[in-house]
Amino acid sequence: AHEGILRRQSARESAARTYARALPIVPVRARGLTIEGADGRRYLDCLSGAGTLALGHNHPVVLEAIRKVLDSGAPLHVLDLATPVKDAFTTELFHTLPRGLADRARIQFCGPAGTDAVEAALKLVRAATGRDGMLAFTGAYHGMTAGALEASGGASSNRVARLPYPQDYRCPFGLGGARGAELSARWTETLLDDTKSGVPTPAGMILEPVQGEGGVYPAPDAWLRRMREITAARGIPLIADEVQTGVGRTGAFWAVEHSGVVPDVMVLSKAIGGSLPLAVVVYRDDLDVWPPGAHAGTFRGNQLAMAAGAATLAYVRENGLAARAATLGAHMLAQLRALAADQPCIGEVRGRGLMIGVELVDPTSEPSGSPSPDLPVTAQPRPPAPELAAAVQRECLHRGLIVELGGRHSSVVRLLPPLTLTDEQAAAVLDRLADALTTAAR
Ligand code: PMP
Repeated sequence: AHEGILRRQSARESAARTYARALPIVPVRARGLTIEGADGRRYLDCLSGAGTLALGHNHPVVLEAIRKVLDSGAPLHVLDLATPVKDAFTTELFHTLPRGLADRARIQFCGPAGTDAVEAALKLVRAATGRDGMLAFTGAYHGMTAGALEASGGASSNRVARLPYPQDYRCPFGLGGARGAELSARWTETLLDDTKSGVPTPAGMILEPVQGEGGVYPAPDAWLRRMREITAARGIPLIADEVQTGVGRTGAFWAVEHSGVVPDVMVLSKAIGGSLPLAVVVYRDDLDVWPPGAHAGTFRGNQLAMAAGAATLAYVRENGLAARAATLGAHMLAQLRALAADQPCIGEVRGRGLMIGVELVDPTSEPSGSPSPDLPVTAQPRPPAPELAAAVQRECLHRGLIVELGGRHSSVVRLLPPLTLTDEQAAAVLDRLADALTTAAR
């Protein structure tokens, strides 16, 4: 069955497939961290539905919540009507929101994907401010629909001004650390305050507290606070895209909480649906000036997703899984950094909580970092090694470990394990990854 299914689907499906090319597996069963293929092979899944599965596959509390809705005879599809299931989901979600937003939040249920909620956020701040332009960041990923793409790092657009996202290892200014981040903040101020630049005050700023698809870059807390001050002082709504960083992933329930920043708008999806499609935008009540029908989406009332999501949010909160992600993530980062000391092909190990990236570089090439020989460079990055990253992913697969690749050059091996990961499982993941790296780098 395994080979036949792979062959038929690769003949039928679009050339745009990505995961299926790199990961020739046919999952038929899954539980927790483990996926089992049609050929009987078992894998440790650190892709987790691209960071969706906070509790891993088929967690009993999620299955129970779904069964309860199915057995109750409740309608599965309700557009945007009020229901007991939605009431329970919204109550639980608002309970988790950062203080300062929780007590005056509004929610709009969106189409099923993260990108739908991004579109809603962009439209909301445009409607609320009456302005059009947007501030977004290099390396950003917000989704695949037109507005979200426009705000993502690779795209260019007249409506979006792109600002440098702070990075240590590949700092756009060759500075890294706090100084690079400060320069990014000053760049932002200069752009906004230079009345002769022709850049009108934008409708909003959208950012990821940790860039995921862009290659796992945690924003420094001080930089996020600067961005909050800069936008607040100019009446520019700040949109935090927590589609990937939310629900405990980075070691806080929401990643903005590390810095104490309270955004005006939060874009939420992935884990909030407990493995089923769900996306919402949550924002301060005074922004709620768009008229009825300003945003819709037929599938904004998926009751199974709301029930699975409410159960997931409650489980993460009640079991302290954000704190658990912080300690286990710190331990895994330390282990990976120890590995990097012996592996010249590891350029940098980055992450926060259980959102981890290992950037692979070509150790035989000269560092290619400094844009100017006069600048004091904190890190000397070597050229990215996408072929090596692909080889590591393949070797991981041979060892029964599924990892994701990311970053502008697809040279970052990414781990997004469930927050329920045990110490033993973490050790197994790291063993297999280290072994795969050693083989691939040989
Ligand atoms: N924002 C971020 C930060 C994401 O990581 C993603 C998905 N990787 C999206 C938006 C888009 O979500 P979706 O793929 O569900 O449209």
